[in-house]
Amino acid sequence: MINVFQPSLGEAELNAIAEVFGSNWVGKGPRTAAFEAAFAGHLGVDTGRVTAVNSCTEATFIAMQLAGVGPGTDVVLPTVSFVGAGNAVAAHGGRPVFCDVDPRTLNPTVDDVAAALTPRTRAVVALHYGGRPGDIAGIAELCRERGILLIEDAACAVDSSVGGVPCGTLGDIGVWSFDAQKIVVAGDGGMLTARDPDLVARAAKLAYFGLEQFSGFSQARLSTHRWWDFDISSFSRRSIMNDMQAAVGLVQLGRLPDFADRRREVEARYDSGLADVPGLTLPPPLPPGQRSSYYLYWVQMDERIRDDVAGDLYAQGIYTTFRYPLLHRVAAYGSTARLPRAERAAERTLCLPMHQALTDDDVDAVVAALRASLARRLGRHTVAAGGTR
Ligand SMILES: *Cc1c(COP(=O)(O)O)cnc(C)c1O
Repeated sequence: MINVFQPSLGEAELNAIAEVFGSNWVGKGPRTAAFEAAFAGHLGVDTGRVTAVNSCTEATFIAMQLAGVGPGTDVVLPTVSFVGAGNAVAAHGGRPVFCDVDPRTLNPTVDDVAAALTPRTRAVVALHYGGRPGDIAGIAELCRERGILLIEDAACAVDSSVGGVPCGTLGDIGVWSFDAQKIVVAGDGGMLTARDPDLVARAAKLAYFGLEQFSGFSQARLSTHRWWDFDISSFSRRSIMNDMQAAVGLVQLGRLPDFADRRREVEARYDSGLADVPGLTLPPPLPPGQRSSYYLYWVQMDERIRDDVAGDLYAQGIYTTFRYPLLHRVAAYGSTARLPRAERAAERTLCLPMHQALTDDDVDAVVAALRASLARRLGRHTVAAGGTR
């Protein structure tokens, strides 16, 4: 099978894990601190501006606590969002208010976000579809003007930036994922940053039961009398990263430049291989000054053939998918929104295999299978519809 996502884990990651085993310190400790420092360096922010957690979803839950989301507050997010973000809002008693997206980029425009704001809007949660920043800079400006917190779900955007400013640092809070389907993989894991260092410090406490005055995870810091004592500042969960995850994440972060180069090549190979395929729309060019992580590569086609094309590719051992199923259509969120651009795009879009382990032959096989399927399905459909081509 050619997978949609695939991690690149090898000997370096295995050796890093072996070192952790040898140290007898597998929980949160020095390697987590080193991963935090390396990630802060990657973003170009002070080390104190990030804290590692066990998943991006947990980071988003913590972000809701930091933002004071609760009953009586609204949080705006594009309907093309990860389910964990919608859950984070709803689980804290907030109302998720879903906005439409640009049908080509699947990112919300500034106007889409503005149209969904209410007097009760406490925060906006925006992602960077497929790794593309989209209008995030404009959305950040809108949120600043309105005094609304912007939380960037930068799970797709570990290597994305606008005018040199990394995605995840344009808003007030940024969260990242290192789960098995992402670019930098730690098995599972997440990171949170905030513009305000006090919020980061609060996030770190929220990630560990809300404990205050805990002596920490390092033996060197166990110097206080009765170091086992603690106070609680707020009731929270246990969401910390461990040193096995951090050790793998550290190695992966070092490999990110190579991953990024290969993903850019894969994108370019799809772009040229699929440029002239009738009935297929490719992602629009990346706007100048923007850098993408090339997390997803997606194509768009007539909604009447999309699912059949996915089936044709699957029959040839090629997985495809659609990210992210529209949240305003999920009954549990109770949305009555009608978001026609997103609804249409969700029926027309297919995400192709995209990862750094794809060979040129893999990409060419996907291109050939897609060409053949489209030719057959479009032809059949045209005949069935009595049309001519
Ligand atoms: C994968 C993903 C997440 C969730 O990350 P976890 O670490 O698995 O919780 C959140 N948002 C987006 C956009 C994602 O793609």
